[in-house]
Formats: sequence, structure tokens, C-alpha cells
Amino acid sequence: MSDTRDTQRSGAGPVDSDLVSLDAGELARRIHAGEVSSVEVTRAHLERIEAVDGGIHAFLHLDAEGALAAAEAADRAIADGGPVSPLAGVPVAVKDNLTTTDMPTTCGSRILSGWRPPYDATVVKRLRAAGLVPLGKTNLDEFAMGSSTENSAFGPTRNPWDTTRIPGGSGGGSSASVAAGESPLALGSDTGGSIRQPGAVTGTVGVKPTYGTVSRYGLVAFSSSLDQVGPCARSVLDAALLHEVVGGHDPCDQTSVDAPLPPVVEAALAGARGDLAGVRVGVVAEFSGEGYQPGVLAAFTDAVRTLGELGAEVVEVSCPAFSYALPAYYLIAPSEASSNLARFDAMRYGLRVGDDGEHAADEVMSLTREAGFGAEVKRRIMIGTHALSAGSYDALYGKAQKARTLIVRDFTAAFETCDVLVSPTTPTTAFPLGERTDDPLAMYLADLCTIPSNLAGNAALSVPCGLSADDGLPVGLQVMAPALADDRAYRVAAAYEVARGAGDHPRIPELRALETSR
Ligand code: GLN
Repeated sequence: MSDTRDTQRSGAGPVDSDLVSLDAGELARRIHAGEVSSVEVTRAHLERIEAVDGGIHAFLHLDAEGALAAAEAADRAIADGGPVSPLAGVPVAVKDNLTTTDMPTTCGSRILSGWRPPYDATVVKRLRAAGLVPLGKTNLDEFAMGSSTENSAFGPTRNPWDTTRIPGGSGGGSSASVAAGESPLALGSDTGGSIRQPGAVTGTVGVKPTYGTVSRYGLVAFSSSLDQVGPCARSVLDAALLHEVVGGHDPCDQTSVDAPLPPVVEAALAGARGDLAGVRVGVVAEFSGEGYQPGVLAAFTDAVRTLGELGAEVVEVSCPAFSYALPAYYLIAPSEASSNLARFDAMRYGLRVGDDGEHAADEVMSLTREAGFGAEVKRRIMIGTHALSAGSYDALYGKAQKARTLIVRDFTAAFETCDVLVSPTTPTTAFPLGERTDDPLAMYLADLCTIPSNLAGNAALSVPCGLSADDGLPVGLQVMAPALADDRAYRVAAAYEVARGAGDHPRIPELRALETSR
């Protein structure tokens, strides 16, 4: 068999450039059919990373040796002829706030430098059990707090479409790795939009599953009532395939939903084959107008027209409480973060500063936290601690929770008349690096449209909807579905993806200029 492969390859030029642009599903098909080995696919991606990541910085850690060993194991399992999972042998990148025993987990923070987790996150365990090939750990805003990866202690990731611009955040590394052809798939975490907004600005698919349907065990907690792990991919079907690998009940996660995972792969396949007759799509009236880039609104309007042409019944819905989402989120998320991050006390993990026999334990804690946390993390700990303090609790945290309830009710009412809701994923395309670093409020606005689904816990995804006419950069269409109806969002997104066709732009940007000499 390997002879045939070699003959097929000879004269066809280097196999690498093809392999890094293929969908995960197609890679799996070729690997399982023996047309190419997982080792070859993995090598191609490692070479691509070596060639372009100097200019992108999607990865904080690479594990070439571990990846090739996992690829060999996948090849052996396939050669043995036994049943293998649909994505066995396919490479994947993992956001660096998911624990891995064989690689560091830094959360983009100095405070975790040197820490080696003693266990794999459940989702990482499931990747390994399904024979996927973890390539490395991807960059993120420190503790997933940010919308641009500029809060990473290890320097920002750059957007593959324009390396002077942000790749979104916090999971900019995961989405950029997928957009740049460094990995066909990646895992992210979405607390307020950190999978969907990077997906939108890098022209990739990003999914925030229903809260509780993908395990948080081994996801370093930012805001536990909002955090959700999910897939990043270049197609809706690929996202669904990865979703099914990592999703489902986990007894190690106390908020894990003990219910069957919605049939997301079936829905992606059905969507790609069919139309949207009978599907009621609600356009959220509040998510347009001032602050929205004209090119983003134009691409969104086009996408809505396409949904109508596919047979969907398009109506406008109003969700007035969504205007409270941003302020409510920026009280609830920091409050939970201030509590979650208390565990970084210099005693248990990573960095320890001032442990010289001169300083008391509380001084070591405070010196370590001063040196180990960046400015945004400190800002959130301060805001959260204040919002939870006895004198402010009712006026701040309590009120934010009431606003959260109103947002849940708006969703409930909207889903009585609509099957899914749609909006732009984020108000603008990728903005220039540095543009918002001194203006936290401007940075927070990037999540205006994504946060309501975290507060309500329902499913939402971002699917590419073309390039903005004003700057030629990718735009994302957000599709929101009720809790445990993730499949609806997949069906609509898959139908839309097919209707839009391969699109008016390459799915992987031309990166030759970034290739550094090897
Ligand atoms: N950008 C938002 C924040 O800074 C969301 C982050 C996330 O989803 N992890 O909190």
C-alpha cells in the first residue's frame, strides 16, 4: 500500500501544501482509505507551522515528537482494521487553558510558568481516545480575558488575513492556527465569545455548544457559569465532527448535562443537503446600527437574504434586555474570576516570588500575584472583588444577575416564534493590533453580540459570511439556537455554507510572504 502511495505522490509535487488546506473530514477519509498516512498529514502540518508560525504566533507550545507518536499509533490502529473514530489520525490544536499532562498549560499567564498539569482535561482525553493528534497548545489572552490575544503574557497572535491585525480573542491562537492551515481543527473556550469572535475575524467556524454539554473538567476556570469548551474548524461539518468527539456527559464536571448530545453531525449533513423550508429565522433588531461597520452589516444582510432564498421564513425579533448583556457580563464574569483566580496563591502552581526566608506567606502571595498577573487580569479581580463586597453586592452583582434573568426571558420569548436567531458575530472586522489596548471598553464591545448566549447558556456558532466590502476582511454570521438544540444552528449554518458556495475568497489566506526560511 505504501508503494502505491509513493507512486501516486511522485511527480505530484510536495504533498504538504494540499494536505494543509483540506477539511478534517476529507483528511480523515484519505487517512482511513490508506491514501495518505496520519504521519504524513501530521508532518505536513508541523512543516506548515514551522514555515508560518514565526509570523502568526498561534502556538505557545509545539509537541512534534508527541504528535508524530500519536500519528503512528493512529496509523497502526487503522492498519489493524479495527473500528476507529471518524477523525482518527487528524491533527488538532488545543487552547492553552485546557490541561495536558504532556505539555505545559500556561493560560497565557506568567503565573503558571513551569506548571505541568497532573491530568488531562476530559476533552483532551477524548481527543486522544478518538485517535486525534494533538499538535500543541495555542495562544490566548491571559486566562481567556480579552478579545484580541494582546493580553497574552507571551505576545499577541496575528491574524493570518492581515498580520497587522488582531485574530480575535481570547482564543485567537486556536482560530488563527485553523485559518493559517497550521491545523485543520482546534479546541477553544467561550466565556463571552472567545470561540465565535476569533472565528468571525479569521474566516473560520467557531461553536459555543450549549452550556454543560461539553466537559469543563480540566478547563482552567475563568467564569464557571459561562465557560464552555467548543470546536474551531474551517467547515461546519468539521466543527460538528469535533463537537461529537469531545461532547457528552462527564461525571467529573458537576455542571455536565446528563442528556444525549444533540445530533450535530447529522444536522450538518442534513443542512448541507437540504434547504431551510419551514425554518423560522429571527433577526435580532438590537444588533445593528451605530457601532456596526457598514461592510459587516452589508455582509450580514446578504447572508440573511441567502437564508430567505433557502426557504427560511425571516422575521425581525426584539430582545430589549440584550442591551444589558455587556454590563451584566462585565460584573458576573469578573466576580466569578476573582474567586476562581484566588487559587493562584504561589503555593500550589507555577510562579513563586519572594520565597527567600525573609517574606511571610501572605507577602509571597502578594508578590507573586503582582508579578504573575497582567493588567487586565488584575483589573477584573479588582472589579469582581468590589462587585461581590458586602456594600456593593446588591447594587452590582445582584443587579447583574437580574439582568441575566431578563436576557434568558428574551431568548425564551424569541424562541417561541423562531427556531434560530441570527446576528453579525461581532460589530467590526479584525481591528489593528494596538488599536484598543488602552481602551478596555472599546475592547469589550467586540463581544456585544456573543455574550447573551453565554449568559443564557444556549448554543451559538459563527460561520464565515464573506469579506467586508470596506476592508476585504472576513465577517461572521452568528446563529443562536435554544439550549440543547445545537443541531438547529448546525443545520442552518451548513445550509448557508453550501449556498454561499466556496465563497468569493480562498479559505486559507496566502501566507507565502510569512514563510520564514527553514
Ligand atoms: N472577550 C471576553 C472577555 O474578555 C470573552 C472572553 C472569553 O470568551 N473567554 O471576557
